[in-house]
This record gives sequence, C-alpha cells and structure tokens, in this order.
Amino acid sequence: MKIVETILEVRQQVKEWRMEGLSVGLVPTMGYLHEGHKSLIDRAVAENDRVVVSVFVNPMQFAPSEDLESYPRDMDRDAAICEKAGASLIFHPEPEEMYHEGFSSFVDMTTLTGGLCGKSRPIHFRGVCTVVAKLFNIVTPDRAYFGQKDAQQLAVIRHMVRDLDFGIEIVGCPIIREEDGLAKSSRNTYLNVDERQAALILSKALAKGKALLETGEKDAAKICQTILDDIATEPMAKVDYVEVVDWNTLEPVETVARDVLVAIAVFIGKTRLIDNFIYEL
Ligand code: AMP
Repeated sequence: MKIVETILEVRQQVKEWRMEGLSVGLVPTMGYLHEGHKSLIDRAVAENDRVVVSVFVNPMQFAPSEDLESYPRDMDRDAAICEKAGASLIFHPEPEEMYHEGFSSFVDMTTLTGGLCGKSRPIHFRGVCTVVAKLFNIVTPDRAYFGQKDAQQLAVIRHMVRDLDFGIEIVGCPIIREEDGLAKSSRNTYLNVDERQAALILSKALAKGKALLETGEKDAAKICQTILDDIATEPMAKVDYVEVVDWNTLEPVETVARDVLVAIAVFIGKTRLIDNFIYEL
C-alpha cells in the first residue's frame, strides 16, 4: 500500500490501474479511523480491484467556531488499518494541495442541505460537496462508499452525483455501533467517562422512536416527542434537532407515508453527536 500526498501521484497510479483494466473504489474519510470506516473499506475491497482511502480533514466544511484544530489525527494508525483491510492507496493531501491560492469554485446545493445538520452548520455541506467533487475528479472511482451514520451527507452526495453526472455508483453502508449502542465516531474521543455514559441516550431514544413506529404510529410529531422526552431524561444532553424527514427529499413529514429518515443531533457537554435510523415502509 502506498501513501501519497499529491493529486498528480493519485492520477498516475489510477491511470496505471486503468491500463490494466482494474476497477477502483474510493472511501473518503477525515481519518482517525475506527470500525465504521473499516466497514466501508472492507466493502470497497470486496467490490473493487483497487481501493483508495482519502484521509483529509477538510477545512472548508468546518465553521470557525468548530473543531478543525482539535479534530483527532493519527496517520500511522490509519495507515495500519487501511493496509490490513486491503486498501491499495491512501491519499493524504495537505490543505494547500486541495485548495491552491485563489481557489474560488464551490459546489452549492440548493435543496437537501438547509435542514437537519445544515441548520446549525450552514456552510458544512458546501464544503463537503466541494471536497467530494474534487476527490471524485482526482480519483475517478467506479464506486464510492459513504456511511449511513452521516445520512444527510449520503443523501446529498447521491443527489450531487445525479445533478452533476459524475457517473459514480454511491454505496451507502450501515451504521457501525459500539457494543452498548453508541454509533462509532472519531468525535467520541472528545467524551469524558461521564459524557460517554450519557451519550447512550442517543441510540436509546432512537430505539424508542423506532419501537413506536413499529407499533403502527404514523404521526411524525408523536414520534419526535417520544424521542425528545427520552433525551430529556439525560441531564447532560442538549438537543440540537430531532426530525422525521422524507428519506429522498429530506423534507420534514407530518405523517409517515413513505420511507423516512429519523435523525437526531444532540450535544453531550460540548460534543455534538448525531445518530439516525431509516424506516422503510
Ligand atoms: P468521517 O471520517 O467522519 O468523515 O467519515 C468518513 C466516512 O465514514 C463517512 O462516509 C461516514 O458516514 C462513515 N462513517 C463514520 N462513522 C461511521 C459508522 N459508525 N458507521 C458507518 N459509517 C461510518
């Protein structure tokens, strides 16, 4: 497995693979890899001849008040995980490699990005779409792998690929959790022992919402309220949002009549955590 920092080196490598007729999968990440990332890499390795993992903490998707500086990084560990999983190449660029001086072109989506995480993170998806579009142009993969953990991101990327004709298959992968239910996340490392315990409220509250849906409840407000009431039992938790939205459009629904995404964002102390489930009718 190679680790490269320049766009040129990625292009040269992919060109060689293409001349051999090999298929290429891409797994975009911000590094500090865990089992969630590994599940994406495993799937990509199973479905493609060669797999590129990008490790890039993308400054464009962080607001000045957010955790760009403190975001955890450990390239040696990430490299070991990628190699063991069978990846062929890590692309680990510096911000200057991705954003040259005078960079001024952005991918701005006018639907799907305003609600859910977009409400409290208004510049986030512009940064995500722009960097993912760049990665798609650099790597030109056949398939790219994204986790349902970031469900809005998955929907947004699928939409972008359709809008801009990238011709890349987007593969959504299920949420990988700790044994006690907490969705794995690089940001879980911010939690102290008490916060880690309190963070269980996200998956517990979602389970209550899901159970209610499974009894036949269709009223989205009632489902949200059940989840909110459960989160309210945890004193360390502060809700950012609890929403039931159409899984295709991400528009809020009043009644569950199509596949829906039930998504939440909750602050545990200073750490903002997200979790969700998709309910298919
Ligand atoms: P990140 O490094 O947080 O930007 O995540 C990179 C990719 O890994 C994204 O597509 C995420 O949705 C996915 N991912 C992160 N955590 C998980 C998880 N617990 N289960 C499945 N996929 C995940």
